[in-house]
Amino acid sequence: MRGLRHVGTALLPLALLAGAAQAQDDRYPQLVPPTTGSIGSAGDKWSGEPGASGHPLMMPDAILAAVADFKNCLERIWPEAARRGISRASFETFTAGLEPDVKIMDFVDAQPEFTKAFWDYVDLLVTDERIARGRELLAAHAATFDAVEKAYGVDRHIVAAIWGVETKYGTAAGERPVIRSTATLACVGRRQAYFRDEFLAALEILHRGDIRPEQLKGSWAGAFGSTQFMPTAFKRYAVDFDRDGRRDVVGSVPDVAASTANHLVKAGWLAGQTWGYEVVLPQGFNYLLADPARKLTLQEWTRHGVTRPGGAPFPRAGDKATLFIPAGARGPAFLLLDNFRAIMKYNPAEAYALAIGHLADRLRGGGPIVQAWPREERVLTRAERLELQQHLARHGFDVGEPSGRLGLKTRAAVRDFQARSGLVPDGFATVAILERLRAR
Ligand code: CA
Repeated sequence: MRGLRHVGTALLPLALLAGAAQAQDDRYPQLVPPTTGSIGSAGDKWSGEPGASGHPLMMPDAILAAVADFKNCLERIWPEAARRGISRASFETFTAGLEPDVKIMDFVDAQPEFTKAFWDYVDLLVTDERIARGRELLAAHAATFDAVEKAYGVDRHIVAAIWGVETKYGTAAGERPVIRSTATLACVGRRQAYFRDEFLAALEILHRGDIRPEQLKGSWAGAFGSTQFMPTAFKRYAVDFDRDGRRDVVGSVPDVAASTANHLVKAGWLAGQTWGYEVVLPQGFNYLLADPARKLTLQEWTRHGVTRPGGAPFPRAGDKATLFIPAGARGPAFLLLDNFRAIMKYNPAEAYALAIGHLADRLRGGGPIVQAWPREERVLTRAERLELQQHLARHGFDVGEPSGRLGLKTRAAVRDFQARSGLVPDGFATVAILERLRAR
């Protein structure tokens, strides 16, 4: 679980929240408001509004009370900091004059309408600029990437793609001091238990001197460095690859690359395998095979008539994969290997993982996705997604608890509904499907 994350551009923050179970059920990443901008400026003041969650700790009075109690709250955390080997001197140095960044409370519950289609999301992340810059950096740091690839077995293009998507190769990592953001979240609002651990981990980073205080800056949720590690993820995965005594995921390319590769290895990355392939499905294909539970070898998929665009064979026919059709039968199809799931552990959104895999292919010299997306399809609004789930539930399909998020269960329910209605069962929730459900 990585906690709150976002893409560094602040334009396109990725996902979501600490409640990874919820996040993993997301079809699309959540849009979180911009996180950069100078602290304390007019646009960066807390709204004073209650949080949308309705949680008691997100009510203005509770927030104000927590702000007033901030110093005491930090002092209540001190004994745990001491147990972790943080000296009193360090604790006082790094918390001296610390004031809560209350603006963050406006972000905690934000659930703006997410109206970006899967293809728009991939387009936004996989740009010509990112491809060109990534290729330059891979060439400039070839020796480092050689060494990291040899040590971790993770494809350098995947590591570079994460670097590019998360922070535009380290140029857009966020400006909020991590110690202040995590201290705020540890003491104010509804996520205190989760962020207490992040705050303590941030203190440990500063106490050990891995990152200098002025460099420990990031998103409002405390993700920092070129590939946006949360402090606890840093503790688990960061490595000192250039052996200067510091695990510097902000300023050292070797440390950034190795730490990111190490994170993927711990997430289950299998050396020698890729993330997946774009594939073409034959006429009359049985779309019920596009089920995340149905894992076949690439050779077995070939027997079902699944081919690569252009007809090239799969390099490793024995690798196992599931079939993924994110935009239904009229869009591109992909065979996903287990490494796709490792990327999703880095950030639990399919659109993110596909963008990373595709950008990696482009960095390697590959071409664009060959098959067209159904760009004329309008993405359902949150209200419409919720309504779709309610109709499906009303007709006896299992969608779990209707949430407005279209996860695996909803996709399976749409497929079942399509199959029962004589439609192509591709699981893609469209306006037409919603209208058909409404009419029943
Ligand atoms: Ca280092």
